[in-house]
Amino acid sequence: MPKSIIIIGAGMGGMAAGIYGQMNGFETRIFEMHNRPGGQCASWQRKGYTFDACIHHLMGCSPEMRINQIWSELGVMPRELAYTKECVSVVSSDRKVFFDYYDTDRLAEHLQELAPQDKQVILDYIEGIKLFAKYDIMGELMVGGIPGILKQLPAIPKITKWFKPTMADFAKRFSDPFLQKAFPLLEYSMPFLPFAIHLSKHACGLKRDIAWPIGASSGFSDSMAKRYEDLGGEMHCRRKVSKIIVKDGKAIGVKFGDGSEEYADIVISNADGRNTLLDMLEGRYMNARLKEYCSEPEDESNWAVHVFLGVNHDLSQEPSSIIMLLDHPVTIAGHKTDSLDMQLYGFDKTMAPEGKGVIKVELVSKYSYWKELSTDRIAYEEEKQKVAEQVIELIEKYFHGIRSQIEAIDVPTILTWERFMGGTHGFCNGPNKKPDFIGNLIKNNDMIIPGLENFYFVGIWATSMGALFANALSGKKAIQRVCRKEGVKFTTI
Ligand SMILES: Cc1cc2nc3c(=O)[nH]c(=O)nc-3n(C[C@H](O)[C@H](O)[C@H](O)COP(=O)(O)OP(=O)(O)OC[C@H]3O[C@@H](n4cnc5c(N)ncnc54)[C@H](O)[C@@H]3O)c2cc1C
Repeated sequence: MPKSIIIIGAGMGGMAAGIYGQMNGFETRIFEMHNRPGGQCASWQRKGYTFDACIHHLMGCSPEMRINQIWSELGVMPRELAYTKECVSVVSSDRKVFFDYYDTDRLAEHLQELAPQDKQVILDYIEGIKLFAKYDIMGELMVGGIPGILKQLPAIPKITKWFKPTMADFAKRFSDPFLQKAFPLLEYSMPFLPFAIHLSKHACGLKRDIAWPIGASSGFSDSMAKRYEDLGGEMHCRRKVSKIIVKDGKAIGVKFGDGSEEYADIVISNADGRNTLLDMLEGRYMNARLKEYCSEPEDESNWAVHVFLGVNHDLSQEPSSIIMLLDHPVTIAGHKTDSLDMQLYGFDKTMAPEGKGVIKVELVSKYSYWKELSTDRIAYEEEKQKVAEQVIELIEKYFHGIRSQIEAIDVPTILTWERFMGGTHGFCNGPNKKPDFIGNLIKNNDMIIPGLENFYFVGIWATSMGALFANALSGKKAIQRVCRKEGVKFTTI
């Protein structure tokens, strides 16, 4: 009899675990609380516009690169893709624009025009991108196994110098005041990230490994769900798991809110780790490490609000993504900022009716801010409207007259995420711990719970990485682990 697996949640990790589980002869069932699969990888329709809450940069789009292997195994590649010219662009209040072009020749020329006096730092930037482009470090380390890791060894002495400076440190090397302000923000407005992350991503863009999937985030998730069901997997939506049933130290099934139960030999959770450990397992398996993981981060600021605008305005000639530097700091949703991050979907005609477009503005805020407001429904709705109003006023400075062209508005907050996907920490839904890339890579310790057998975590709780491919890969790693334990030869056929 094939062994059975219950998977809690149909995010990237859960669906990947289901797909690889089916490939390896297990009988799998996924129970998903939302009415559709995909988890954070989600988009939806409003008045003919598609609003996408997830993908900016999808890695693994080039068949030449390692990560693509995962996507093709999972049935999401090849697919129709759109490529953008730039990674991001930054615009100052006096309309100076820096396009962070993927093409390094074009980028060098553009930077020289903006800041001829910064020749050396520009050369270093371009050289850094080209250096990272020579290797497939992320792909080989994560997917290539021991041979892949060995292949990347010559890169190590050359790239290590790029891990020390942060985005902010590198920016300080420019004498041009505009580039000094622009560079810290290039990697999702996180100046504290190592500059190497930006170089590595830029290099992937240069090699056309980063693209946008036509059909948006839900189209991407739907392809994975289809692959799962084509392999015979059972997807059950609107089924929220409330407890994990344990017997003799082994996970043996799950219980739902209505009291019904389902049993299996193995349970895999793609749900939020805090919910899994504290609610579904009632805190019985906590140790010092897991207590620390479940604690609140010092600063719970997060991408907690999106403002989506469907506009009767052609965005096809606009950059794909703009960071607007503001004249004066503004406080939006309790968070003070002097820049505004927006994505413009003019590169994908399917996102809006002919000649129209979608603008998404992402804002940092706190879960606690919205949770407190939500105790008064009217106050919560009023704050969402106020946020939209502030955003519209600011982007009017870039798109004059945009206010009168708005046809659809949606303002999901982190509470929307909580309602549909359980987790309370949005993009940062992982454990509260210092990044430990190598530890995760080698030991995968976060995938298991000491003292509980036949249980595995997949997704962001297992990887601590807010990346689609990494969380999908965790599903593969979990099934490889199960196969080793059960003496089954792992296959991807
Ligand atoms: C705003 C934003 C932008 C992003 N941009 C990018 C990007 O450009 N590129 C990129 O690679 N990545 C991006 N990411 C990250 C990426 O979306 C996530 O890392 C990935 O989708 C997380 O996958 P996961 O496996 O952890 O599962 P999740 O997406 O967290 O899914 C978990 C699933 O479990 C379900 N669930 C939870 N509790 C229960 C329960 N009790 N019972 C049943 N089901 C349950 C949820 O409903 C959900 O479907 C972005 C994320 C966000 C939020």
